Amino acid sequence: MSKKTLNETCKDLYEDSGQAAVFEHINSFSDSKFKKLKLAWERCNACETISPSQNHNCLVCGQETKTVKFFYEAHVFYSRKNGFSVAVESDVELEEEDIIALAVEQKKIDGEDARSVDSTDEIDEETYKMMNNL
Ligand SMILES: [Zn+2]
Repeated sequence: MSKKTLNETCKDLYEDSGQAAVFEHINSFSDSKFKKLKLAWERCNACETISPSQNHNCLVCGQETKTVKFFYEAHVFYSRKNGFSVAVESDVELEEEDIIALAVEQKKIDGEDARSVDSTDEIDEETYKMMNNL
């Protein structure tokens, strides 16, 4: 008897127990197995959620998935009249302190500016591109 492929396993899980069972199966993989199988959590329009995918194919429904990007701005506040905002891009959802750390890592701000960040916001891709002159 041949071994079931990951696609077949997920399809069976989905048909037997639904989307959550596929998510659970994928979540049970170790990080190294996840990487080795070249899996990613990506946006699936058919499933209307972030789904596990392999080669940009949803493991739940088989439709094409898209890489998820998150865009954030960090506002550096020196004074009422002096400050600026920078925009960063990430593959994962970030909390405020991670957004600031990423902005430093991407050399958008330095360590001193990082201490003057008074707010961060999620922004859309258009705003991100505009802020980075892309
Ligand atoms: Zn799907």
